[in-house]
Amino acid sequence: MNPKSRLHIYFLPMMAPGHMIPAVHMARGFARRSAKSTIITTPSNASKFSEVIDADRRSGFDISITLIEFPCREAGLPDGCEDLSSTTTPEMFQNFLHALDLFRCPVEDILRRGDPDCLISGAFFPWTTSVACSLGIPRVVFYGTGCFPMCVFRVLREQRPQDAVASDSEEFEVPGLPDRVRVSRRQLPYHLRLKGTDDDPLLELTRKVLEADEAGFGIVVNTFHELEPAYAAHIRKLAGKAWHIGPVSLISGGTSPENHHDCVKWLESRKPNSVVYLCFGSMAIIQKPQINEIAAALEDIEQEFIWVVGKEAEVEEGFEARTEGRGMIIRGWAPQVQILSHAAVGGFVTHCGWNSVLEGVAAGVPMVTWPLSAEQFFNEKLVAEVLGTGVPVGVEEWSKRTDERAAIGREKIASAVARLMVGEEGERMRSRARELGEVGRRAVEEGGSSYTDFDCLMEEIRMFTASST
Ligand code: UDP
Repeated sequence: MNPKSRLHIYFLPMMAPGHMIPAVHMARGFARRSAKSTIITTPSNASKFSEVIDADRRSGFDISITLIEFPCREAGLPDGCEDLSSTTTPEMFQNFLHALDLFRCPVEDILRRGDPDCLISGAFFPWTTSVACSLGIPRVVFYGTGCFPMCVFRVLREQRPQDAVASDSEEFEVPGLPDRVRVSRRQLPYHLRLKGTDDDPLLELTRKVLEADEAGFGIVVNTFHELEPAYAAHIRKLAGKAWHIGPVSLISGGTSPENHHDCVKWLESRKPNSVVYLCFGSMAIIQKPQINEIAAALEDIEQEFIWVVGKEAEVEEGFEARTEGRGMIIRGWAPQVQILSHAAVGGFVTHCGWNSVLEGVAAGVPMVTWPLSAEQFFNEKLVAEVLGTGVPVGVEEWSKRTDERAAIGREKIASAVARLMVGEEGERMRSRARELGEVGRRAVEEGGSSYTDFDCLMEEIRMFTASST
């Protein structure tokens, strides 16, 4: 095979599950399109997906992992803190961001010794643009979030409508968007709330990220055009080049059926659309008072459920015995994509992380939206107000600190879950969600919008490679 027709794509995803998971899907997607994929990451991050990569290799796909050490000591982090979800204090978070800069030398070394045609890296590695430039290869950036939240962020950063309102609770319109989107200051990350928060380390990083992004080759987004057409077009206009290739959970061939978890077997015994799935992503820690309210709500309305709680979460004694046969608690990691795509699952209570939103959309499942931090409040607006496939549980305040969060009461939870799972309103949302899921699945099939965009991305990398040799 002509070496130029067989691309070698390197991936450097940010070390956090919400970034690693979609990046691995992408890498596997490239390998399925006859490219060679190399994922650069640290040993403990690699251990979470090495099995699936080995299975891909056994099936004949050209995909591998190249390991680099995480510079814990140099960055002032405890040994083993190799993943953003293990940072528990603002200082650790800060040190983690510093560690990302220390990857420059080892990554550059790997690329120089290899034969890269392109580097797809997380936005939090802004220095990868200049490294790629010095090697004469394109750097494509991956933010991990969708076009809608990216558009909202941009308006808030550049036009600052949040400065014109008198209080944190007053709602204001985000100007210039295709839909009428209203938010309040208390739904925004701290660094965007008020002027004068310029010393926030995230603002400084954001500046570097945007500069690197503008000098880069383009951005790849885990979305599909039909999900957010006006926003996808807008991001494409702003970025110069943007490729929408999602839902990426559908382009990687999934996991093998023998890996089915007990909960998937349990779902086999349930009626279609009878079970609600609750999960707050990979980072959030839910405090005991909130866990109690969720448990009480599920009991009050006798709802069948699969509920993912933290490994150490204390669920009220007796709850599991009382709900035995009607529900399942998973402590730790759940096979989310498999659960969502099961016919017995009729609703998803989600913290609105972008991956979860897209996985819910791809599975055709309506949602109860329960945003916590990051850009999750914007994702809630997309689901509940623009797509019409979700019911907000009623969270009012953005908060990264779990101990600062006011618990949402059982009545609100029970009412939102019941609206989704019982009655005509829920049925209407479910049928819209199903249609959207169908469109998402078609997008990644041959001839679909994401499939075609994926082809365009590969073609543009090929053209770049040809023009620089
Ligand atoms: N996830 C999972 N099992 C769990 C928790 C999370 O598979 O028990 C996956 C989920 O499917 C998604 C990712 O972890 O792909 C979480 O990403 P998201 O953007 O939703 O939220 P974050 O964890 O970044 O807040």
